[in-house]
Amino acid sequence: MSLITESKDLLPINIGGEMRLGGGDESATLYPATGEVVARLRAPSLADVDEAIARADHAFRTSGWAQRKPHERAAVLYRVASLIRERAEPLAQRQRLDNGKPINETRALVASAAATFQFFASACETLEETITPSRGDFMTMSVYEPMGVVAAITPWNSPIASEAQKVAPALAAGNAVVIKPAEATPLMALELAAICEEAGVPKGLISVLPGRGSVIGDAITKHPLVKRVSFTGGTSTGKHIAHIAADKMMPVSLELGGKSATMVLDDADLDHAVNGVLYGIFSSSGESCIAGSRLFVARKLYNEFLQRLSVRAAALRVGDPADERTQMGPLITAKHRESIERYVELGRSEGASVRTGGARPQGELYARGNYYMPTILEGVKNTDQICQQEIFGPVLVAMPFDNEEDLIAQANDSVYALAAGIWTRDYKRAWRIGRAVQAGTVWINTYKQFSISTPFGGWRDSGLGREKGRLGILQYMEQKSLYWGLNEQPLAWAN
Ligand code: NAD
Repeated sequence: MSLITESKDLLPINIGGEMRLGGGDESATLYPATGEVVARLRAPSLADVDEAIARADHAFRTSGWAQRKPHERAAVLYRVASLIRERAEPLAQRQRLDNGKPINETRALVASAAATFQFFASACETLEETITPSRGDFMTMSVYEPMGVVAAITPWNSPIASEAQKVAPALAAGNAVVIKPAEATPLMALELAAICEEAGVPKGLISVLPGRGSVIGDAITKHPLVKRVSFTGGTSTGKHIAHIAADKMMPVSLELGGKSATMVLDDADLDHAVNGVLYGIFSSSGESCIAGSRLFVARKLYNEFLQRLSVRAAALRVGDPADERTQMGPLITAKHRESIERYVELGRSEGASVRTGGARPQGELYARGNYYMPTILEGVKNTDQICQQEIFGPVLVAMPFDNEEDLIAQANDSVYALAAGIWTRDYKRAWRIGRAVQAGTVWINTYKQFSISTPFGGWRDSGLGREKGRLGILQYMEQKSLYWGLNEQPLAWAN
């Protein structure tokens, strides 16, 4: 595996198992900390997209992958997990260059990708089909079939982990996969596909088609041979994909945006809550769908809590992603930082005051990177745009609440419903609020903890469908019922 830095060569992409230059526009991936070119490549042309999908369909039908016994497919996926682990450090370093996350985070993402392959290998070899209750002289079964070519469309914020989350179950289920990574971060998908092939996934079964979403992603989604799309990204893109899927009668899963509420009750353990809230919003520089970006604090604690929180936020180590001590790296692109700056201005125009941050950090270290300071805004209402729209950056809005009813009403007053956090010592209140809050995931006295065994997804504008969990593999399979007639006599009706 190559760790490209400043190579002048164009990087080939994986078109149906063939590594070659795409026929589309040239683009460069930039290291967000310095703006240096990490790699240049050419996106696929639309003809390349057609070819990759045709090859995937051919490989699905002829490679025998879907017909291999589950434990044989699983063995290949276990090998993928081992290869990722063997190369964990160079992969983590490459991901750092690709999207600028601190090295400790990219190490965790690589480890998570390996664990995901291991988990779905095991789901593959232990998946059970069912004999449903018999009715007289019929025996009935429910079995699962792979779908064919499925597409995995991913965003830039957690490349190898979000790709593994789709590719592992899709391959485990016996499908071919076309990966469409985000334009800004194509490198990890290419590495992952190469590892899959090395581990024994037949060539052609995986393609990697980077490039503009509105061109390449759109063409993949509309392609008649693509039988399912698993999408992670913004809500407006997800809705667009859902329309195309409706026209094709194609199943989709949509992991979309969020504006998750973190709630600090008046009996919370403040040390835990301060740490958890900080981690919930500012890790990954807030570029996280589940970022706890709307903070509600019990009024009687509000001033003390905000004081402690803002002192700690201002002390976070923002800087070089290669430094193991760094807590917040740069944002993905200069354009994305500008969008965050516009949001902070919007907040100010809505009457927000900046408790801490609200600017780019100054100094030599930050001069060439897309850095932004951890920012806390207050003096806002939950109905303000700054509290309703996803910012996807290191910006927290903070509000006091008066009672539980008021808290739940405000927490649920959002088009998004992806995640929530509750900080309290009272498990009965946690239970009550945890059940009342509308969200796909609720963390109690913790935040942003994940397990591959636990289903993940959003309600409302935060998405459709679930990823992860042992049954996540079924998202990539069609269910089929088989009826076996066991009666000695012909059907009576025709007599
Ligand atoms: P995005 O929607 O702009 O892009 C996501 C992917 O979709 C990219 O690969 C992009 O090229 C592709 N795409 C864009 N337009 C397309 C189209 N018309 N047809 C098909 N594909 C298209 O999102 P982004 O800016 O890359 O990522 C940030 C968003 O992702 C945030 O809203 C964040 O909350 C969300 N996200 C959600 C989750 C989750 O699990 N719920 C996880 C990570 C990120």
